[in-house]
Amino acid sequence: MTGDRHVVVAGGAGFLGSHFCDRLLDRGDHVICVDNFSTGRRTNIEHLAGHDRFRSIDHDVVQPGLDAQLDRVDGVVNLASPASPPEYLRRPIDTLDVGSIGTHRLLDLAVERGARFFLASTSEVYGDPLVHPQPEHYWGNVNPIGERSVYDEAKRFAEALTMAYHRSKSLDVRIVRIFNTYGPRMQADDGRVVSNLVNQALRGEPLTIYGDGSQTRSFCFVDDEIEGLLAVLDGPLAGPVNVGNPNEFTMLELADLVLELTGSSSQKVFRDLPSDDPKVRRPDITIASEQLGWSPAIDLRTGLERTIEWFRSAVHR
Ligand code: NAD
Ligand code: UDP
Repeated sequence: MTGDRHVVVAGGAGFLGSHFCDRLLDRGDHVICVDNFSTGRRTNIEHLAGHDRFRSIDHDVVQPGLDAQLDRVDGVVNLASPASPPEYLRRPIDTLDVGSIGTHRLLDLAVERGARFFLASTSEVYGDPLVHPQPEHYWGNVNPIGERSVYDEAKRFAEALTMAYHRSKSLDVRIVRIFNTYGPRMQADDGRVVSNLVNQALRGEPLTIYGDGSQTRSFCFVDDEIEGLLAVLDGPLAGPVNVGNPNEFTMLELADLVLELTGSSSQKVFRDLPSDDPKVRRPDITIASEQLGWSPAIDLRTGLERTIEWFRSAVHR
């Protein structure tokens, strides 16, 4: 589905959602951004105000009433959910509600309009993984009653519900599992590791390392990630499909790179590791690369330079 489609983007005012709206508009689609601005920002989409193919609706997708506000709908993209651990731990019930009730309502909207449904799932469905790297056929290792379960299980439920609609109602669906993504429009105070470390370095504050810093993540620059999401949206696979950058780093390696690129003389300080914090994470992207022709192109150094530049910029301040 490319160009001249009418696409609802739930969570479109967020970090990823706002970039996704930009790319859909660039290629000629019509975008209806639906957001309750709980973790998203109006500033992320203010440059789109007045665009003749863009519309923003202030709405909580957990609540009824969206359908009546819409005209033509060809695609329903569900990115609505808090995504950073501090944000979803602050809003445990809202996170479960948006993953379950919110996803349910958006699936019903897609069925009623005969639209394609796209779910933003997450590498968190693999929990603290016992298989490394993580392929899509790995079922994961999630603590169902731990603090993080409000996010992990909401996303696992959302995947199950999406597949149930696909099987029982023949709904055209796409599921993508997004791995750690960073870049411009992350919020400086959202608590994720890249935004924390970069902003601490720029302010000359100590860089907070949780645990001993030996845990790993694999970071994808936002421009690569959005191209991957579009490849899944447009492609033939229901999924799930992993989309992320397989280059893996410890948090200590990340901190050292941030110090080098910012020129900061901040020290590293060690804090308690949050409960159930995954020890390793790295996507197996064989399906995305071989079947969709997508793989990331921007390495961590280049992506971090762009991110640091953005956080330094006057616009953000
Ligand atoms: P974000 O918090 O910046 O964006 C989420 C958006 O959803 C926000 O604009 C928020 O206001 C909106 N929202 C939340 N609840 C809502 C509701 N009930 N009704 C309407 N809008 C609501 O987060 P992000 O990093 O852009 O993540 C977007 C999606 O991608 C999320 O679903 C997240 O789970 C998924 N994801 C992101 C990452 C990542 O590294 N950024 C990794 C894995 C998965
Ligand atoms: N982390 C850290 N310092 C911080 C924030 C996070 O060391 O200031 C660690 C966190 O414990 C985790 C990793 O960095 O091991 C990635 O955390 P993030 O919240 O960015 O993403 P997620 O845990 O969801 O992968």
